[in-house]
Amino acid sequence: MNGLMQQHPLLISSLLIHAERHHGAQEIVSRRVEGDIHRTTYAALAARSRRMAKAMAALGVRDSDRVATLAWNGYRHMELYYAVSGMGAVLHTLNPRLHPDQVVWIADHAEDLVLCFDLTFLPLVQAVAGRLKTVKHFVLMADRSHMPAEAKIPGLLCYEDLIDAQDDAYIWPQLDENHASSLCYTSGTTGNPKGVLYSHRSTVLHAFGAALPDALNCSSRDVILPVVPMFHVNAWSLPYVGCMVGSKLVFPGAGLDGKSLYELFESEKVTCSAGVPTVWQGLLAYVEANGLKFSTMNRTVIGGSACPPAMIRTFQEKYGVHVLHAWGMTEMSPLGTVCSFRNKHLALSDEERLALQTKQGQAIFGVDMKIVDGDGKELPWDGQASGELLVRGPWIIEQYFKGEGGDPLVDGWFPTGDVATIDPDGYMQITDRSKDVIKSGGEWIGSIDLENIAMAHPAVAMAACIAAKHPKWDERPLLVVMKKPGAEVTKAELLAFYEGKIAKWWTPDDVVFVDAIPLGATGKMQKNKLREQFKDHALPTA
Ligand code: ADP
Repeated sequence: MNGLMQQHPLLISSLLIHAERHHGAQEIVSRRVEGDIHRTTYAALAARSRRMAKAMAALGVRDSDRVATLAWNGYRHMELYYAVSGMGAVLHTLNPRLHPDQVVWIADHAEDLVLCFDLTFLPLVQAVAGRLKTVKHFVLMADRSHMPAEAKIPGLLCYEDLIDAQDDAYIWPQLDENHASSLCYTSGTTGNPKGVLYSHRSTVLHAFGAALPDALNCSSRDVILPVVPMFHVNAWSLPYVGCMVGSKLVFPGAGLDGKSLYELFESEKVTCSAGVPTVWQGLLAYVEANGLKFSTMNRTVIGGSACPPAMIRTFQEKYGVHVLHAWGMTEMSPLGTVCSFRNKHLALSDEERLALQTKQGQAIFGVDMKIVDGDGKELPWDGQASGELLVRGPWIIEQYFKGEGGDPLVDGWFPTGDVATIDPDGYMQITDRSKDVIKSGGEWIGSIDLENIAMAHPAVAMAACIAAKHPKWDERPLLVVMKKPGAEVTKAELLAFYEGKIAKWWTPDDVVFVDAIPLGATGKMQKNKLREQFKDHALPTA
């Protein structure tokens, strides 16, 4: 017997319809790359998205065609999120921080038909336009007054002209909820990038999960500023969550430095933000240097790479901003776990709670996880056993776009490539990515622990721990350190800093100081580059 309930597909357009009807007057504020602060509402966003959907149809965009963006977080980008997916086409968010050759490779692979881009990326698009095999239309996301006199891109279209040419009488199509909605490529640190093709259903379910109280805890009372870019896994779903719960959204555009962010946090009374640790470093440095406080921000989501405990401590103890440590992947839409407290944790000391927050946290309903040993045998949830983390659920990948890489699943589970422990309460902790693990004498050393300790040293701005070759132990940890400007620390002092904090044999064998640690297109340390740079490093213990 079937249930007797209505069948409504879970569609991205329904999020927008809901926001317009129930939160129409709620504000969306954007720092534009043109330089000013722009204000709009969900009602206006909905009307303009309908006009943009018509404009895309007029350009010849049909069902499942890919429309790419090279854009910062802003209201026009959000309009494209809804217009393109809502009409049944696929929004492909390109990462502008990639090398131009990679942008071309990915756009060709995705077979993008239209490319919409912010003014900032005009030089990039001018450089690659002639090489893009499938793009027929280039749209500059600006008004007529910002169109370049000489664009060097044949037939360059103006976003606001496209909108002006349409009215907003448009009914969103009733798509199958499994219809493709958006496309995002993994960073491809190993091999070519692979496309992850989300569906309307996976996106809406993921937004439900992300908004939950023990996940990002979002409501209509929130003012959310996603620092995480809309080209990085759909800004962790915040443009969808915003419509779902009716929160005010604040978009920082290209202003991702500490000063610009801090000004927006304060002027727009932001309550919640989200981003990778490297972004928060810049913000904290600015706030500390200028003796500032946050007057409205009560929490921030930090993920994408392990959040150093020293950063959690500073946010919470010095600034009263609660940290939600989260873990996920492009292949997971991206959210998998969030570290929020249970009742019993409220009675813990600050130090005990901080130790808990170093973990990536508990699975959101919808995400099932397990850890396995080298033979695929499931390991216990005792907080000790560590093994490869596998996940499954309705917003987790089944196959890459165009079947690249073959079947990624193992018995229906997606292997994340992360190594983790899970404690008896189900709190997961990433100890490493499998390719970053240091294998010393057959035992594994987790590089994240070693980095977290180094990052707690007052003179250290950033630290990466990598495997260096060792004649006896095969690999031993080498600590690569970038010092804070003007700060001094010696190798001996840093090594002494590990005493009593970890098993002695985990202590790095050597420390090297560098001017900068290379960051990838999503703000993560590129340890593969460091491994290459220090592949011939002679350890003093060798
Ligand atoms: P890529 O790093 O390839 O660009 P993603 O942005 O999808 O891809 O990154 C996913 C990976 O980032 C995870 O598999 C994990 O290794 C790492 N990661 C994400 N969040 C965390 C976290 N909170 N702690 C540790 N590692 C994390």
